[in-house]
Amino acid sequence: MKPTLALHGGPPVRNTFLNYGKQWLDDSDIASVVEVLKGDYLTQGPNISRFEQKLADYVGARHAVAFCNGTAALHAACYAAGLGPGDEAITTPITFVASANCVKYVGADPVFADIDPQSYNIDPASVEAKISSRTKAIIAVDFTGQPADLQALSDIAKRYNLLLIEDGAHSLGASYQGEKVGSLADMTMFSFHPVKPITTGEGGVMTTNSDELADKLRFFRSHGITSDPERMVHPDEGPWSYEMHELGMNYRMTDLQAVLGSSQLDKLDSFIRRRNELADIYYEAFRDMPGLQLPSVMKGAVSGWHLYSLQWLKRYFKASRKEIFEALRAENIGVHVHYIPVYYHPFYQQRGFEKGLCPFAESWYEQAMTLPIFPKMSEQDIDDLIKAVKKVYAYYAI
Ligand SMILES: *Cc1c(COP(=O)(O)O)cnc(C)c1O
Repeated sequence: MKPTLALHGGPPVRNTFLNYGKQWLDDSDIASVVEVLKGDYLTQGPNISRFEQKLADYVGARHAVAFCNGTAALHAACYAAGLGPGDEAITTPITFVASANCVKYVGADPVFADIDPQSYNIDPASVEAKISSRTKAIIAVDFTGQPADLQALSDIAKRYNLLLIEDGAHSLGASYQGEKVGSLADMTMFSFHPVKPITTGEGGVMTTNSDELADKLRFFRSHGITSDPERMVHPDEGPWSYEMHELGMNYRMTDLQAVLGSSQLDKLDSFIRRRNELADIYYEAFRDMPGLQLPSVMKGAVSGWHLYSLQWLKRYFKASRKEIFEALRAENIGVHVHYIPVYYHPFYQQRGFEKGLCPFAESWYEQAMTLPIFPKMSEQDIDDLIKAVKKVYAYYAI
């Protein structure tokens, strides 16, 4: 007899909800923040540049520019890239909306390329097919922590004179052909939202090897203001003087966030190791279950495993993805779907984007589901997750 699903009134596999992602803060993280709270600078103090340098060294980039969140960093990158009205940037629909919205913020237009059916990352061939005379940039996303095909994308960017912006919100600590992501695109963004590889509460950073782009990012972060006499139009105005040259924002990170980021960065490698172990455990647990299409890591890549995204292939099950999803939620497993194709959202639908634009992305989305994965998961959490997936699978498999 198959056990009764919690969805149908049976006892759930666990009694507390297992979220899909969660931060891991320890006493040293907390102590570092308390220290800053007792000091003189809550923002614009010394912890910002310390964190920036530490992160730049970690990823092997010349510059890191910290922001109040990853979306702000992407906005700044679009500004630094010189994107404006009439320009286009090509991105993937299988991402969080911010990867496309940042293009809209500067008055330019996002264009969606399809995904590669193996990696679920943006397909370089589709990118190339979507290039027009208006294209200025490619915004690639390292979906689930697996680096996009950065070599192929860089080659295309060079050939067509485009900037390659990498949305690495998922991929801090991941590597591509032996190199850490963060120095392989013209600019790479990392996010420090609590579910991301390390956290600062809210926060983000843009890394780059370009002095010029780093300068533009810093400028935009702080109102487009300079107090450097070399740059000022009226350097003799007075000792109080500063000048605003561009319409920037206040997108600064606080010292509280920066010190937390530095402390978290010390743990990143162990977090990534644990995420890789979890992905291996899931693979062993689910590999012999026909109909479950498990994620794979491309040759030469080390994934950060920010998300564990598998597919329930329709033809193997007598229920819809929605029903399977609801059954797992009823068992108290915090499954999720990352992501609804960006152009399905009403904002984009109202602006002329139609279903059918990216067929691989759309059929992938129909069957996709994210399972909880985060370093602080306990053995019990892991057992519950596997047990719940097997229970629901057994009930719905044809
Ligand atoms: C989280 C995320 C962002 C936005 O980062 P925030 O720090 O939350 O602003 C952008 N792109 C992707 C792919 C993300 O997952």
